[in-house]
Amino acid sequence: MNFKISNKLVYEAETPKGLLCRSIIIYVFIMTGSVLALSLIFRNADRLNFYFFINSCTVSILTWIIRKSFNIKSEEKHLAVFRIGLFFLLNSSLVSMAGGLALLERDVASLVAAVLYIPAILMIIYSFNRFIKYVNHNYQSVVSLSMTDELTGLPNRRHLNSKLREMEGRVGTICIADIDHFKKINDTYGHEMGDKVLRNTGAILSRLANEGVFISRSGGEEFAIIIFDSLNAGETVRKIKTSVSEVCNSKIKVTLSVGVATKQAAESADSAADEALYRAKRAGRNRIVHASKYSKL
Ligand code: GH3
Ligand code: MG
Ligand code: MG
Repeated sequence: MNFKISNKLVYEAETPKGLLCRSIIIYVFIMTGSVLALSLIFRNADRLNFYFFINSCTVSILTWIIRKSFNIKSEEKHLAVFRIGLFFLLNSSLVSMAGGLALLERDVASLVAAVLYIPAILMIIYSFNRFIKYVNHNYQSVVSLSMTDELTGLPNRRHLNSKLREMEGRVGTICIADIDHFKKINDTYGHEMGDKVLRNTGAILSRLANEGVFISRSGGEEFAIIIFDSLNAGETVRKIKTSVSEVCNSKIKVTLSVGVATKQAAESADSAADEALYRAKRAGRNRIVHASKYSKL
């Protein structure tokens, strides 16, 4: 995942930077001033009408947006397209202004304004679409990060909780699988080796996840599994248990204790699965135990 942590998706610098930004502001002043001066020199002052006022407002707003766009610190290439589009739009308004004051022939002014207007709008639409994609991509990255366990890459507890809420009102099976004597692995081989065992176990479990089987790391050395299709749940749980035990985690033998509870639509089964896990531990570990209240698989 390509994502840099930042407190903002779009970062605004305190002050506008760059020669280009200042040049555009100076350019706008010179152009607007020249249009005004020429209209006064050629005695077209009576044409300083409502349209001139509207055009002046448009030019000022566009200048303000261009200046603001220079405040944004972003590596995104489409920002440059956005600025160029705004600059074309600005010139389109200036030409309309000149046409309105009869400094240019109206037909010529309209044609030039239209020629500048079309690419300007296309560029702005293009950069706007790219901006939406950019924001959505970053949003997805953030959501994905917040739902993923960093060590194993499996869904984390937050993701599990949202799946459990999805499960409300549905039939399904909940399993809690816990690595046996994991503390001993940490104590004997070190915390790093413990992490490696967790990563390997996560990799094995992730291969067994599919549309009907959700596997998460619910915390520490504990994995919570939701099986939406209860018909094949028994086989899935056995597969999960044996695949972790069979694959050699380096030289370390890993076994799982699994508590299983099948829930009906109106029930909640996560605490029943916890209770079943507790019984599996007490019965000697390395086994699957079904919650007594629920039907056996
Ligand atoms: P049991 O068979 O009863 O489950 O015993 P256990 O040793 O597996 O369980 P216990 O709860 O006594 O110990 C769990 C240990 O897991 C303690 C904790 O330090 C370790 N642990 C939790 N999260 C991590 C982790 O992310 N990395 C590593 N290396 N160890 C972890
Ligand atoms: Mg354990
Ligand atoms: Mg545990």
